[in-house]
Amino acid sequence: MYPFSYTKVSDTREALRAGRQGGRYIAGGTTLVDLMRETVERPDTLVDISGLPFRQVTVTEHGGLRIGALVSMAEAAAHPKVRTLYPVISQALELSASAQLRNMATIGGNIMQRTRCTYFRDVTAGCNKRVVGSGCAALHGNNRTHAILGASDHCVATHASDVAVAFTALEASVRLLGPDGERSVPFSDFLLRPGRTPHREQALRRGELISGVEIPAHPRPLKSGYLKVRDRQSYEFALTSAAVTLHVKGGVIREAKVAAGGVGTVPWKLPAVEQRLIGRRPSGALWTAAAERAADGARPLQQNRFKVELLRRTVERQLRITGDST
Ligand code: SF4
Repeated sequence: MYPFSYTKVSDTREALRAGRQGGRYIAGGTTLVDLMRETVERPDTLVDISGLPFRQVTVTEHGGLRIGALVSMAEAAAHPKVRTLYPVISQALELSASAQLRNMATIGGNIMQRTRCTYFRDVTAGCNKRVVGSGCAALHGNNRTHAILGASDHCVATHASDVAVAFTALEASVRLLGPDGERSVPFSDFLLRPGRTPHREQALRRGELISGVEIPAHPRPLKSGYLKVRDRQSYEFALTSAAVTLHVKGGVIREAKVAAGGVGTVPWKLPAVEQRLIGRRPSGALWTAAAERAADGARPLQQNRFKVELLRRTVERQLRITGDST
């Protein structure tokens, strides 16, 4: 561990000032402290924001939901409004990490978490995300768990968050506080694909602070759910996952929101699947036909070709689970 300084702030103004000066925000610390121990991250200053007032879950004016950045994963998963309005969020959270981690980790920290690519955490390996221009050991190395969508020659790592997949499906926005006030960034623009700059992972300006995540209102009734496929049943990251929401009225699917995890460098929205569903009547044949489009554009690596078919089957199964209950 390298030496660093630590300061705990009591209001957002103080936090933003410290952030502008290069301080690194920390709340639950469940990712950052590990990375500091492994010397992957070496911040000079930690700014503890755990005392800031971002701990509420509220229903918005238009019937959506706002989850404060400092709400713990466990609190968010158990919140009655989250459970009843968006079960897909609760399920994604409860299938993440371990009970101990879910008690500590926050929603803001969860969407900021860094990749689980083993080479990223091995400081002896080439990794463009950790050291710009040092290469990508995963490209021709151990890449069984890596991305089949959204990758580049510079990085093929997946995004690790489950709840970010649910937020992507629901077309949520990230609320950001900065020196010029508050702004809202759609989730799909907030997390960045690697391109030639895999070290840039979020559309954050210097010193900006996440205050919460806002989920827009969706037409009711809304059924939703999350399925995660992994090598073991708990405390494991997704090989593939699917977040599905369906609004069915008069026997016809009026709205469908679908996203996949474990397969993309960012949570992966599936518009081709959604389009195949909208305007049609739920049926087993429809779930199969729609899921056929789930892996459109996939470019598997040497060790992860299995993810193409696994992704289709994961999406089909969650469509069936959600759709058969509408
Ligand atoms: Fe690093 Fe990305 Fe390559 Fe992993 S996949 S070694 S994180 S550059």
